Amino acid sequence: MPELPEVEVTRRGLAQIAGRVISGVAVREPRLRWPVPRDVLALAGRTVKAIHRRGKYLLVDCGDGHLILHLGMSGSLRVLPPGTPAGKHDHFDLLLGDRMLRLRDPRRFGAVLWAPGDAAAHPLLAHLGIEPLTASFNGKKLYEITRNHRTAIKQFLMDGRRIVGVGNIYASEALFRAGINPRKRASRLTPGDCERLSTAIKTTLRAAIRAGGSTLENFVAADGAAGEYQVRTLVYDRGGKKCRRCRSLIRRFVQGQRSTYYCPSCQK
Ligand SMILES: [Zn+2]
Repeated sequence: MPELPEVEVTRRGLAQIAGRVISGVAVREPRLRWPVPRDVLALAGRTVKAIHRRGKYLLVDCGDGHLILHLGMSGSLRVLPPGTPAGKHDHFDLLLGDRMLRLRDPRRFGAVLWAPGDAAAHPLLAHLGIEPLTASFNGKKLYEITRNHRTAIKQFLMDGRRIVGVGNIYASEALFRAGINPRKRASRLTPGDCERLSTAIKTTLRAAIRAGGSTLENFVAADGAAGEYQVRTLVYDRGGKKCRRCRSLIRRFVQGQRSTYYCPSCQK
């Protein structure tokens, strides 16, 4: 599933469409996670002001509203020459003169929606947690938001109402970097833990963005390049292998129906 780094890599790849005028819209399959609304068909004539990201949502700023795009489980967005033949899973095109933005989504859990006015008030965005790559997310903030949460820190990190975009891979990776056991209760984190963990989250996400996002099935950046982060993970998907830091064996267990990987020596 595309996580924050993949979405951010996509956003950067889409920066090239800013300033372009929407010349048309093609919806070949409206049955995505939610039906593609008819409003989307009336976007022609608007100018794309910028592409923003909120959590894993991409927001195409059209001045009087935002086209909300989500990659779901298997989606990818690419900028292509217009007239490129559409494949079976190419459900949506935003035509932009001599370019077009195309959504490919084999599993159709992605989304194409329209938010008039302030996108932050949209029901999908209104309850999202803090953005981990902003300056306002730091050790002090993490300490503050973890008080009174008895849930395991790994699961807390993956709760988008608290912090957005720290999915399964990056939660395991960041906890390893910070030397924190994934089972530790969020409320038991010390100010020092929170300082190390907030830094580790940023480091992990930035490293993945630099590497072009994880290599996941069907994920390709806007230029068609596949990501390569996954081959370099510290603990994720390394159960039974030697810790890169201390040579102990990495352990895997299931937490909230997701695999968690950690080093029992480095993460007390
Ligand atoms: Zn270790």
